[in-house]
Amino acid sequence: MNLRFFGATGDTTGSCHLIETDQARVLLECGLYQGRREESYRRNRSFAFDPEKIDAVVQSHAHIDHSGKLPMLVRHGFVGRIHLTGGSADLAEILLLDSASIQLSDAQFLNRQRTRKTLSSSRARKHEWTRRENDPPYAARAELPQDEVLPLYLDEDVRDTLPLFSRQRYREWFDVARGVRARFHDAGHILGSAWIEVEVTERGRTQRIAFTGDYGRPGQPILRDPEPLLEADVYISESTYGARSHLPYAGMEKDLGDAVERLARRGTGRLLVPVFAVGRTQNILYTLARIFRTRNVGEVRIAVDSPLATKATRIVLSHKEYFDEEALAEFVRISSERQFAERLVFTESVDESKSLNRDPRPTIVLSASGMMESGRILHHLSFHVSRPDCEILVVGYQAASTLGRRLVTGAKEVNILGNRHYVRAQITPMLGFSAHADREGLLAALTPHAGRAKALYLIHGEDDQRAPLAKDLRERGFVRVECPEDAREFAL
Ligand SMILES: [Zn+2]
Repeated sequence: MNLRFFGATGDTTGSCHLIETDQARVLLECGLYQGRREESYRRNRSFAFDPEKIDAVVQSHAHIDHSGKLPMLVRHGFVGRIHLTGGSADLAEILLLDSASIQLSDAQFLNRQRTRKTLSSSRARKHEWTRRENDPPYAARAELPQDEVLPLYLDEDVRDTLPLFSRQRYREWFDVARGVRARFHDAGHILGSAWIEVEVTERGRTQRIAFTGDYGRPGQPILRDPEPLLEADVYISESTYGARSHLPYAGMEKDLGDAVERLARRGTGRLLVPVFAVGRTQNILYTLARIFRTRNVGEVRIAVDSPLATKATRIVLSHKEYFDEEALAEFVRISSERQFAERLVFTESVDESKSLNRDPRPTIVLSASGMMESGRILHHLSFHVSRPDCEILVVGYQAASTLGRRLVTGAKEVNILGNRHYVRAQITPMLGFSAHADREGLLAALTPHAGRAKALYLIHGEDDQRAPLAKDLRERGFVRVECPEDAREFAL
């Protein structure tokens, strides 16, 4: 058996890992690299293997950095099954359709940029798109000329992908390919997320792999705690926060409640919460429901201003089989009390979104994107960032060079949608909502297996996170801990 890692090696996006035997090729994840447009396009536009020769894909969860290249895999000839949980399948459908529309607008942006560069250069550059020959319908569907950058995939490609989904339950083995079977265990990260146990038999010898996917943390709202990792020969672990410790979730409920009370006391203005559509939105709504039940929130109301977040919330509510006991009891209470439901609105149209800005009532607005780089949150920020009656809660990781990072590091002036704005709003970081295990969580999950494991591979973490974690794990008895580089092959 060989293992190869094609992404998320030294960073946290583009997860894609290949298990190869003499009779099967199986992918764990098929994720999109996410970063600046030009670099994302360059890194995402091709595969380092032949998609036609992949027998099956096993998906840990629906986040785009783990699933976002599935439609491209299908477009390039993959015809096998894509195994995932029912919750992941439903979330992947809306996330992949949303991603297809982002691919189209990114390609259009790059084309405009390239046209400008070409005009200022004496030599026109021929683009290096790796599309197949004899494939005119693709360009026709995109309504883009052949000599321009094409989107990585379109919504038609997503629709070709969905029928390949094979929904699996937690803890039940399923056949993946010749000599390969797998089963999912609850990872407690987002709805339907799993850590994956893979059993590979080759020439009469059987080995087990435990792959964490994105491993959650105990005590998160709504979801059950992550199930412990089982015994395996080989571990593949994420390391997003391999060297950091999170604040406990219980403190977040208090801090968020204090921010809501500040808004209630002001009696006007905004509490702006930039969020990721899947996971964070639902966790914050759930926490707000508890706060509305137990604290003095005056006339405060809540608006979820993101069509994708609204769809994701509907999907989460339709999958109560993934909820923990506390959440099931809480939802019974929420549905029997009117106060929260009457204060909560989900805006759909752009007009509804804009009309929120004219409403003088004190309002909590949850809107995407989480790093404040795109989406409707930008309109709310441009309207409110200069007002002292606005507070902005930063509830997620803010990458370098994003508007979110500039605000959280104390910028006095920011550029939003082409205009300069003074920052007079209060900026409040609230980083305990993370859905990833921290250093202590990863060590607690992995250390019990140090004695037996033949090898442990750390992926899905920047090097300042995975290198210290590797050191910690070696000290706890793992004989072989690797931090693989891109495309490196390991024989097992
Ligand atoms: Zn994730």
